[in-house]
Amino acid sequence: MKKKFICAVAIGALVVGCKPAMDLDKPGAVNAEKLVSAASNDAEWLSYGRTYDEQRFSPLNAINAENVSGLNLAWFADLDTSRGQEATPLVIDGKIYISTAWSKVKAYDAVSGKLLWEYDPKVPGETAVKACCDVVNRGVAAWGDRLYLGTLDGRLVALDRATGKEIWSKVTVDQSKPYTITGAPRVVDGKVIIGNGGAEMGVRGYVTAYDAASGDEVWRFYTVPGKPGENEDQPHLKKAEATWKGEYWKIGGGGTVWDAMAYDPDLGLLYIGVGNGSPWNQAYRSPGGGDNLYLSSIVAIDVKTGEYRWHFQETPGETWDFTATQHIMLADLEIGGKTRKVLMHAPKNGYFYVIDRTSGAFISGKNYVPVNWAKGLDPKTGRPIENPEARYDKTGKPFIGMPGAVGAHSWHPMAFDPKQKLVFIPAQIAAFPYFPEKDWKPKAQGFNIGLDQGAGAMPAIKAARDAAKAATKGALIAWDPITQTERWRVPYNGPWNGGVLATGGNLVFQGNATGSFAAFASDSGKQLWSFPAQTGIVAAPITYKIGNDQYVAVLAGWGGIWALAPGALSDVSGPVRNISRLLVFKLGGKAKLPAPPPLNKMPLDPPPQTAKADVIARGGYLYGRYCGVCHGDAAIGGAIIPDLRHSGMLASADGWQKIVHDGALKANGMVGWSNVMSASEIDAIRHYVIKRAHEDKDLEE
Ligand code: CA
Repeated sequence: MKKKFICAVAIGALVVGCKPAMDLDKPGAVNAEKLVSAASNDAEWLSYGRTYDEQRFSPLNAINAENVSGLNLAWFADLDTSRGQEATPLVIDGKIYISTAWSKVKAYDAVSGKLLWEYDPKVPGETAVKACCDVVNRGVAAWGDRLYLGTLDGRLVALDRATGKEIWSKVTVDQSKPYTITGAPRVVDGKVIIGNGGAEMGVRGYVTAYDAASGDEVWRFYTVPGKPGENEDQPHLKKAEATWKGEYWKIGGGGTVWDAMAYDPDLGLLYIGVGNGSPWNQAYRSPGGGDNLYLSSIVAIDVKTGEYRWHFQETPGETWDFTATQHIMLADLEIGGKTRKVLMHAPKNGYFYVIDRTSGAFISGKNYVPVNWAKGLDPKTGRPIENPEARYDKTGKPFIGMPGAVGAHSWHPMAFDPKQKLVFIPAQIAAFPYFPEKDWKPKAQGFNIGLDQGAGAMPAIKAARDAAKAATKGALIAWDPITQTERWRVPYNGPWNGGVLATGGNLVFQGNATGSFAAFASDSGKQLWSFPAQTGIVAAPITYKIGNDQYVAVLAGWGGIWALAPGALSDVSGPVRNISRLLVFKLGGKAKLPAPPPLNKMPLDPPPQTAKADVIARGGYLYGRYCGVCHGDAAIGGAIIPDLRHSGMLASADGWQKIVHDGALKANGMVGWSNVMSASEIDAIRHYVIKRAHEDKDLEE
């Protein structure tokens, strides 16, 4: 095939040398005009949040509150992964494109469901240990005739949209460090923008823009300063230095941009949500405190140059894993008799923020769930008025935080109905025990957060577990951003329910942790329809129109951090399984799912407990630090990876070493831990899990 090139001579003033060109005018090409006017394109879904303002509202109303009871499955596609499915599909020119767990991409005919192509970037299994929160991917981006994918191991890949063939691939991170990519890229004017994750492990956050045609880096924006003296060329980092103390750069500082971005084409501003500090515990990250800019902030960047414009910090001196990476949404709202260009945000810290997106000025903020870490926000500046007891990093005492690390709202996309002027928030009510660790040191592998996760583990006491379950909830909240009040809510028994879609049919669609996919009336919250999806749903639905038919599509498949870490709380919404599928609905759809496998609960049958108490205690500490985040708090596993209390290796000290010390199962994601633990320490973990299995067996009997 002949390649086209744009050369300096051909385009006059732009002295850029020769670069491979992309034809943005040919039919079907996604270009700037299409993306800027996406709100009026109801046939397709061209970018992660549908439009640059990321409102996730479609004007389609063929499916509406009057007829949604006739909605049924049109087709479905089984996936070849069984981990969390968090992606928002794209629909372009009659085809639907998804990314799945392990960063795979698939293309289907959007009417028939026929598989057109699939792409596997072959992410090494051992990359899983760098991922705080499952091997998920939230979606691809489109530009020209290409798709762009961020892979778990830190690559940005350009694919031919017609064939799925790889065009170029760039490593965007230092792969010797625990960086991952789970977020969807965004494309603005031929620049592909991608962030990364890893602030639980010890990295420095940034976002990078790459040329969509060539894959060349255009700019990189760091969110936290490097070593003092090394920030001279970037004024925003030089300014941030004074807000940090100690040797923060040695562990990275955090501030990863792992999910949300939005873009205002009139202002030329890209908005990014910046993540938590690394480590969480500020006493170790920045001893003596400081605001630690730009952690837990919304930052506005000039998209052409990558230069800082403004920031709004939601949680100064972040110490609770309160990221500001949650969904960012833009709208023009009538506030106090004036039309304001606003940015709306419901971050982990529990407050709903309305910010002036031209300047970053605080307009209003109010908590949308119960909050105990702060007593409110300063009405002028929006700065939180902290509860001193919440600062476990200063007091050295444990604090049960509300919200906790899972957040009052995580990555699950919201939606905004511009007619109702309502934001629909997939909210979470879930506390977290922050137990500061004395004399903590970072290690070469695993979580590095400055907490004693073993000490914070849930005890094997039925009353304590029941109380924690009763206090852990979820809700779909319809929030009025102008008055900062709740209009209605759909209560759930637990958190980690799906992302949201709003439509012109007076409908809000959301899947949930109980395995159902449902539609609610936007104006009242009344449930009008539901579908038994057989699996927990965490991803956000989309809608599109082909011919006369409106379709609603959602990726189903339980996963993410709540499917791994919460231990005794993992079944707070009821038993759940992962059946990973793309589900596509239309009025009068005729497809049927096969019967699901039964939800069997295996009895616990651990080997005899032989170890001394001090060995078990040491094992409990190490389990909390290295194992619990994936295998579950207090060794109670979730639904998607093995529950160690049932492991056949509990009775085999040698087999346990082969896996946990030597890494025999690293291709599956279970790496060896010999770089941070000795064989006897690893055996202590085995004895701890045996003890935990006995305790839970006694509780069940
Ligand atoms: Ca985090």
